[in-house]
Amino acid sequence: MSTNSASESSPLLGLSHDTNAAEDTPEDISPPRDLTNDIFAHLKAFNSIAYQSTRNSRSVTDGFNASAEYVIDKLNKTRCDVKLQHFKVPIWEKEKEAELNVTLGSGEIVTYQGGVDFWSMRYGGQAANLTFQNVTEVRNSCDREEEWDIEGKVALIQMNEKCDLWETAYKAEKSGASAVIFYNTPKQKKLSYSRVRIVDWKEGDPLMKIPVLAASNSMGQILINSQHINITTYTKLFIVDTFNVLCYLNGHGVNESSIVIGSHLDSVPAGPGLVDNASGSSTILEILLHLEKNRFKPQNRIIFAWWSAEEIGLLGSRHFVRELIKSGENVNVAMNLNFDMLGSPNYIPFVLRGSDAPIDARNGSIKIQHVLEKSFHKNRKHYNISDMLGGSDFLPFIKNGIPSGGLYTGSSEIKSRKSQQEFGGIANAPLDPCYHQECDSIENVSKEAISVTSRVIFESIIFFSSKKNLADFLNS
Ligand SMILES: [Zn+2]
Repeated sequence: MSTNSASESSPLLGLSHDTNAAEDTPEDISPPRDLTNDIFAHLKAFNSIAYQSTRNSRSVTDGFNASAEYVIDKLNKTRCDVKLQHFKVPIWEKEKEAELNVTLGSGEIVTYQGGVDFWSMRYGGQAANLTFQNVTEVRNSCDREEEWDIEGKVALIQMNEKCDLWETAYKAEKSGASAVIFYNTPKQKKLSYSRVRIVDWKEGDPLMKIPVLAASNSMGQILINSQHINITTYTKLFIVDTFNVLCYLNGHGVNESSIVIGSHLDSVPAGPGLVDNASGSSTILEILLHLEKNRFKPQNRIIFAWWSAEEIGLLGSRHFVRELIKSGENVNVAMNLNFDMLGSPNYIPFVLRGSDAPIDARNGSIKIQHVLEKSFHKNRKHYNISDMLGGSDFLPFIKNGIPSGGLYTGSSEIKSRKSQQEFGGIANAPLDPCYHQECDSIENVSKEAISVTSRVIFESIIFFSSKKNLADFLNS
């Protein structure tokens, strides 16, 4: 995510008449002093769940289910109507890097280095051992009707950002290719890290069977004139069942709407995912438990959501929104709040930028941004604005006309000198040096970041769930 300076924010815009605290916010519900410590108790639990898992992660195929059990156990002690929403996800694993050698026209054999000159692309098919394969270059014109004569051959295709990667690869497979190699344009220096798969994959949609590799431009040039090549890949592609954990808390208002408050509960396979995103998961869990302790009566219905499979393409939240639309219930969902990464060690508290939302969800998203900003002002805390374009579970909501917003404390963005003066921490270093890595453990979580963000989140949840005529407020 890219970042912008706080000067862009307009904290009070549009709020002067709307936020009547006396009317909307019950006086007796305020964030407890030990909120941060209580959130850390959940973080410790998630840390040990990861530690006890097979690969020290909470990914869909590793510690996710144990993480979900932990949340469900807490929810069962609340007034929540708890629902597990099951869906299917494709898992792609690479045991080790592919091997490839080329026999040139001269008869000379060149062995390329996996991970340097080429690699298996994510979601690019099953393990294969292909020998004496002929390579045919096909021009990628994005034309779906154009016929490719590549039966039994390796399709060599230059990267073309204008064409959809999945459609190109799948077309090659349907044309009978034995493998696909996408090679870089002369300008592209890095191997593509893209997934070869429609991003919003759902049960029943196809996946690649044949291997798909990404290669450097120079390797591509050599392959054009090769006699034949041998390829061995060590990948696995399979489908598993997973589920979102949902808690429905009834509203008591006359014109009630629903609010979806979500955090993804899965981590990447590479690490325990404490900042990303046990921090969001623990924060919304603890806030819910505190509201329960106080027998909080929201005006609007709250749906707390712990999404699965965010790290493999926002698949949990996409499934939820798809089902919501199918049932027609989307008209009752006024908004979404998304909390993904709240405890980055070198943090900057970011409020997601509402004006990034598509037109149908823009007005409401800007309103949500302003409410969050107002809470920062009230708490005398600084913040920046971050984009809300992609990369987390707000996306399926805003794409379907449901306003969204949220907080985020940063991942691989580098902290500027100016930001360091404003927020402390370390300049010229990433906001989270352990982002998507093994070291994203409990030691990686900033108590201060959790303290700052959880207070704002608490206040915003009270504000929105207590708001009478919430839909009108967001549309005004
Ligand atoms: Zn995340």
